[in-house]
Amino acid sequence: MLRVGVTGGIGSGKSTVSRRLAELGAHVIDADAVAREVVEPGEPTLQRIRARFGDAVVRDDGSLDRAALAAIVFPDREALDALDAITGPAIAARVAERRAAAPDDTISVYDMPLLVERGLWVHEHLTVVVETDVETRVRRLVGERGLDETDARHRIAAQATDAQRRAVADVVLDNSGTPDDLARAVDALWHERLVPYEGNLVTGTRSRRPDLARECVVDPRADWEPRAERVVARLAAALAPTGVATEVSHIGSTSVPGLLAKDVIDVQVGLRHLADADRDDVLRALRDVGYVFSHGIHSDTPHPVGSDPAGWTKRFLGGCDPGSHVHVHVREHGSAGWRFALLFRDWLRHEPAERDAYATEKHRLLGLHEATSDYVVAKEAWFEGAWQRATDWAERTGWQPR
Ligand code: ADP
Repeated sequence: MLRVGVTGGIGSGKSTVSRRLAELGAHVIDADAVAREVVEPGEPTLQRIRARFGDAVVRDDGSLDRAALAAIVFPDREALDALDAITGPAIAARVAERRAAAPDDTISVYDMPLLVERGLWVHEHLTVVVETDVETRVRRLVGERGLDETDARHRIAAQATDAQRRAVADVVLDNSGTPDDLARAVDALWHERLVPYEGNLVTGTRSRRPDLARECVVDPRADWEPRAERVVARLAAALAPTGVATEVSHIGSTSVPGLLAKDVIDVQVGLRHLADADRDDVLRALRDVGYVFSHGIHSDTPHPVGSDPAGWTKRFLGGCDPGSHVHVHVREHGSAGWRFALLFRDWLRHEPAERDAYATEKHRLLGLHEATSDYVVAKEAWFEGAWQRATDWAERTGWQPR
């Protein structure tokens, strides 16, 4: 199952996007509807609300008196947090139940206004943010939904800002145009990303970087850092219940500002014991967030040449998202290979001359090799010298992995 979170400020067009996705075949869960469901008469959540806020919040017919509850919680931050602590887990459990009941090959859309505010986006494979400027939203809310203008502005001010949402968005849908423009953008997203992503998840296929090196290697991109942050946050959240990981870090050339690189986000997962990577619950957690093992790859080239290969073993996984290539290197915390990945990044971040020398070497190799795989192999020779210089730098500066 592919999990897609759809969010946006009130009046942005979030519901319009979800409706279109449902027409295309998505299974849509509306967070607002679930929130109403879990407080219906007879629901344990309603009983908890009554126990916490008193009998006055329940009407004679057993239904929730929303106005009475609102009068208690809205002026009082602590009361509002207490209400969220009761309803939040109940809603999450109901959504998880729905998803568990859906077939495996479903594209499951969670239409959730507070996806960003609540940090729930980390559990979705993709976060889609619908964006429309505030004045247009106010105009649409007043004109088409009949809201009072002051009320519309208050509601907008109480939510996350566009910048906060954009920071965690994998996809931003601009809804400043016509409804047809929006529908076309949703259709393209569906066919070009969601359907192939879901197909990859079901078959356990990782998405492939371009085979041609000159197509794969690109100038530095501003989205590498935020893309990596999202990968790191999702992997960390997925692995947290297993307790096996010490940290997840962005590594490799895309983690060095100003360096050209393959458009592939590399991250390293540090494990207390590498063997934990083969545990069933760990395999399931990684597969569930969209990463599949590449069973042919078990180690890196040891440095310096001739050193014990035991310190350079790893597990390697690829991400299933066709819209963002991700490689995950799982290494034992404290191993030589684990340490070098972090050292290499920090060294190049701190030594612009070395970064530029590496860029020059990359350009030279791009002139010699057509295939990305050949280009990758050819870079290895440079790494032996780099390992020595980085190690000298670490000794000189007292660098330690963080
Ligand atoms: P949200 O779910 O984000 O609050 P909606 O999808 O309900 O927003 O959209 C808010 C209002 O604006 C609705 O009445 C909707 O029909 C209208 N709307 C959405 N997109 C457009 C658009 N591109 N042009 C004009 N009106 C739109």
